Amino acid sequence: MTKKSLITGGAGFIGSHLARRLLEAGREVTVMDNLFTGTKANIYDLMDNPRFTFILHDVTQPFWGQFDEVYNLACPASPIHYQRNPVETIKTSFLGMMNVLELALKTKARVFHTSTSEIYGDPNVHPQPESYWGNVNTIGLRSCYDEGKRAAETLCADYAREYNVDVRMIRIFNTYGPNMHPQDGRVISNFIMQALKNKPITLYGDGSQTRSFQYVDDLVNAIQLFMAMDPKKVKAFFAQKDMGVPVVNVGNPGEYTIKQLAEETLRQLPESRSQITFQPLPKDDPKRRKPDIALAQELLGWTPEVPLREGLSRTIAYFRNAAL
Ligand code: NAD
Ligand code: UDP
Repeated sequence: MTKKSLITGGAGFIGSHLARRLLEAGREVTVMDNLFTGTKANIYDLMDNPRFTFILHDVTQPFWGQFDEVYNLACPASPIHYQRNPVETIKTSFLGMMNVLELALKTKARVFHTSTSEIYGDPNVHPQPESYWGNVNTIGLRSCYDEGKRAAETLCADYAREYNVDVRMIRIFNTYGPNMHPQDGRVISNFIMQALKNKPITLYGDGSQTRSFQYVDDLVNAIQLFMAMDPKKVKAFFAQKDMGVPVVNVGNPGEYTIKQLAEETLRQLPESRSQITFQPLPKDDPKRRKPDIALAQELLGWTPEVPLREGLSRTIAYFRNAAL
């Protein structure tokens, strides 16, 4: 029988890639999205597929359906968007997760949740392993996202322990690629769009803060490998690691300062007349971020394959059209 997958937030950047891959793998795919930051343009080419369905719905409102697996991606991910309506952001993280887990409990669906490196906050441990508990401000501008995602992880852990729901979580580190919204506000899309339009490159702070950037195809590979694993194997692996709950970092450990990223973007767009400009660093902006991916490598036999230079070049090619 054809497996049925539900993707909440499937009209967004990562969700649209995942939807495409699951269709390629022969699944029936339902995307549920309220189009807060996502767009139907990301999934137009899937609409004619008889195995694809789109539902306009807000995950904070309960929903029902019989699915084999539910991928929970609904949540704005860019700081400017998740801070636009912070109460809605934390509600989406918590209530959306709750609704997904309740559905899974009643229908025995397998759950995948997109957690984030933001649960580590402004980390005091570098690189960040899964065993690190993080350094998060509970009342700052980023807290609606960070604490929402932390609470969602807690919900997943408790539904797994208390009700035996088959939950798998990935803590995603900064991921980029085609289908990011041109006005998404995250650094890679900002720099590329600014360079393409000959506008100033907005470097926040002195640009010495670091991030590790993962190309979206590498992330989707890891998601598919994790969700394909036998539940008994997943349980045994995390029990043996004394973790109990299946959660793993997925990212590309190549670490760059944001200034290096700006310079590499301009290097790849030599025709651009843009200049780097320095702007204030947003509050609570993490200073360093780099995943320890040893656990993912052992669990999934996975390793990221697309280096930043290559991924940037593919993303620039996409944004050239988006910029028209
Ligand atoms: P995105 O903003 O492109 O996608 C999020 C999608 O969720 C959008 O389509 C949006 O419309 C939808 N959405 C938001 N609130 C909703 C609601 N209440 N009901 C239904 N749909 C809603 O962002 P993305 O980068 O594709 O992120 C997808 C998921 O991965 C998010 O949960 C994000 O927190 C997580 N994540 C992403 C990154 C990254 O670097 N891209 C890193 C860590 C975690
Ligand atoms: N940043 C920047 N200019 C921009 C957008 C972001 O210098 O136009 C910086 C931001 O301050 C942060 C890093 O780039 O240090 C990554 O920001 P992003 O919003 O992409 O994601 P974050 O990892 O902070 O959630």
